[in-house]
Amino acid sequence: MVLVPLISLPLSFYCIIYINIMSIGERIMKKKIIFFTGIIIMLWLGQRVFSRESWEEARMQMVEEQIVARGIQNPILLEALRHVPRHEFVPQEMKEWAYADTPLPIGFGQTISQPFIVALMTEKAKVKTGDRVLEIGTGSGYQAAILSAMGCTVYTVEIIEKLAAWAEANLKRLGYENVTVKWGDGYFGWQDASPFDAIIVTCSVDHLPPPLLEQLKEGGTMVIPVGPPWSIQSLFVVEKTSQGVTVHDLGAVRFVPLTREIRKD
Ligand code: SAH
Repeated sequence: MVLVPLISLPLSFYCIIYINIMSIGERIMKKKIIFFTGIIIMLWLGQRVFSRESWEEARMQMVEEQIVARGIQNPILLEALRHVPRHEFVPQEMKEWAYADTPLPIGFGQTISQPFIVALMTEKAKVKTGDRVLEIGTGSGYQAAILSAMGCTVYTVEIIEKLAAWAEANLKRLGYENVTVKWGDGYFGWQDASPFDAIIVTCSVDHLPPPLLEQLKEGGTMVIPVGPPWSIQSLFVVEKTSQGVTVHDLGAVRFVPLTREIRKD
């Protein structure tokens, strides 16, 4: 579609400049060309506005039917979900399904989580505006964008270099500035940026990583899927208090595993 303005705009300018030195027949011909290029430009603009509106419509429907209907209530979170363009965080061939009630492949054998799971983890992590939040498993950058839109300072770690770079580019292009992406093994958290009010782990572990517990503030909450890899895990809400740690099980989930292999492919 980019070809439309690229071709039609210079053509129109050409016609406008030379129209005065032409014969009557040529002038009529050129006027017709201007008229039709105008129509093409208008159709192109109309198509752009229409597609923007339909993405927005799909997003509003996603929030009402998949998220509010399932009991998510935090108004700041719901506002962020209504604003963050999820279709900008999936590969081109997946855009059509960006607002569907499902996780989607993002390449390298990884997935962007189902919208409801993103909402549930964020709500259960009790994230508030102004919080310092650590995410393990940046993936597409969508979860980080939701946290950023809620007014948090976000630190996010991704183990696959190309995904870290892609997520960083997505976040930058869309103007999410309070997010820092790091390529590395999130098992160790982000010591220099700690302590965190909340930690959201979007890949599964078979035990609670001690560095993450240590980097959580007292009074802070971590949401993390714990269980065997490539199987069913339990979504744990871990709260750190002055007395120690409490764990609450939210039920069965399925996440890609936290791996320990730093990938450059
Ligand atoms: N939160 C993401 C979805 C992430 S899927 C989103 O919003 O799109 C889980 C991600 O965790 C994958 O991208 C995977 O590469 C990453 N991952 C797996 N092991 C990791 C580790 N040790 N450290 C950091 N990231 C890891």
